[in-house]
Amino acid sequence: MNTSDVLASLGLSDAASGPLSGVYAGKWIATPSGGRVTSHSPGDGAVLGEVAMGGADEYEACVASAEEAFQRWRTVPAPQRGELIRQCGDALREKKDALGALVTLEMGKILPEGLGEVQEMIDIADFSVGLSRQLYGLTMHSERPGHRMYEQWHPLGVMGIISAFNFPVAVWSWNAFIAAVCGDTMIWKPSPITPLCAIAVQNIVNPIMEAAGFGGVFNLCTADVNPVGETMIADRRLPLISATGSVRMGKRVGEVVGGRLGRSLLELGGNNALIIMPDANMELALSGVLFGACGTAGQRCTSTRRVILHEDIAEEFTARLLKAYKQIPIGNPMESSTLVGPVINEAAIDTMMASIETAKQQGGELLCGGERASVAGSEGGFYMQPTVMKATPDMDILQHETFAPLLYLITVKDLDEAIAVQNGVTQGLSSAIFTTHMQQAERFLSAAGSDCGIANVNIGTSGAEIGGAFGGEKDTGGGREAGSDSWKAYMRRQTCTLNYTDDLPLAQGITFG
Ligand code: NAD
Repeated sequence: MNTSDVLASLGLSDAASGPLSGVYAGKWIATPSGGRVTSHSPGDGAVLGEVAMGGADEYEACVASAEEAFQRWRTVPAPQRGELIRQCGDALREKKDALGALVTLEMGKILPEGLGEVQEMIDIADFSVGLSRQLYGLTMHSERPGHRMYEQWHPLGVMGIISAFNFPVAVWSWNAFIAAVCGDTMIWKPSPITPLCAIAVQNIVNPIMEAAGFGGVFNLCTADVNPVGETMIADRRLPLISATGSVRMGKRVGEVVGGRLGRSLLELGGNNALIIMPDANMELALSGVLFGACGTAGQRCTSTRRVILHEDIAEEFTARLLKAYKQIPIGNPMESSTLVGPVINEAAIDTMMASIETAKQQGGELLCGGERASVAGSEGGFYMQPTVMKATPDMDILQHETFAPLLYLITVKDLDEAIAVQNGVTQGLSSAIFTTHMQQAERFLSAAGSDCGIANVNIGTSGAEIGGAFGGEKDTGGGREAGSDSWKAYMRRQTCTLNYTDDLPLAQGITFG
């Protein structure tokens, strides 16, 4: 599929000739007032289109649309809500190739990963359909005779979804499909770096929701932080803000939402480490590191940033890793031979270069990469050579997430030191150990082991399945999305006690009058 076919298939053809509206409030708003943003392809720098963003008025229109829809949507039986999400999943199946290609064009991840991101949306849709029949509460035995006690879960209201550029479509679906079966309605503020992906998603789900009379369940307000982002997080009409992005952003969202005693679901930056023990299957470990550190050009929240090597295998593993790094094909993400595509923009290149310099100043040693890469035919793109540096645990730069293909290798004496180094950062998203030793694996998974939200054995740090709860601890924000019982974040719990007698006994045996 070439670019114009992709845009045409997703209803985005007009983006090239003039600004497309980036605001949907139950219907597309013709001329949003929040300024314009140009979408560039990081693969070659080409302009993909222009989008008109929402301002304060359009944000209000989104709230009105979501509030009106919520009054009706919350009374629709959850399995019927699930049926509409099933249809959304089917529509995504039909558009998987085009939407996956658009993710690759606008965000820059390689095509198999672009398609994988859409598959994740489809998987979450399927999961949500099943969930729509399983929003279970518990029943309890009351201590009072003739009383029944149970808990039930009700929809929460209108929620805000703030998403990052690196998962421009999947993060919305993790939140939106589950929140929708829970009975919530929502307003999505996507990253202004990937506005076309957001509009394309709306174009896919709108016909289904509109035909059912529920266009206002999924609203879109493509916008800058000011005024819309800040207004949204301070808005008491939104009981829940789910925000995915940097730790800096999450601290701001947490502070403002907490200040109004709202709920926030924070999915923030990671600083993920992978431990390799002497008894590990080295082929497996090598593959895990390569995908974790170089996949998505190091722009996953779960990307491997630090490899912690036991001293007995450090030298051998480093040699094998460097050999593999030198062979990794860097190129345009639409080409099937490419494994490492571009980073998102020039600023990302500058940040990576700055981190390399800082690491050198702090005693780090550059082992490979470290330069901008040139890709024939894609000269306007933003390519970096995947980079490996030797580091020591005391280097301050190791505390920071550089959102690019920059990997640090750290050597340790034993498992205790490895776990201490792994946990010795402020973030706590994903972690992994490669070992065939059962006791070491169990120690890593124990309460005294990894302190992260995700802990893997003989699997790399990135590439989670949707069935588990996804998220991390410490500065990663503590939120959980996707599978398991993450749905509870999108609902309010109500404990109900029903008395079917003519007496009014008090709890704890209290007598009153
Ligand atoms: P970012 O923090 O720059 O922006 C993320 C989103 O937050 C954007 O939509 C942005 O406009 C919005 N935003 C920023 N400040 C805001 C404010 N004050 N009020 C309201 N909205 C605000 O992040 P990014 O560069 O787009 O994405 C990369 C980061 O996201 C990395 O740190 C990565 O680890 C993290 N991330 C985390 C997860 C996860 O699940 N833990 C998933 C994907 C990305």
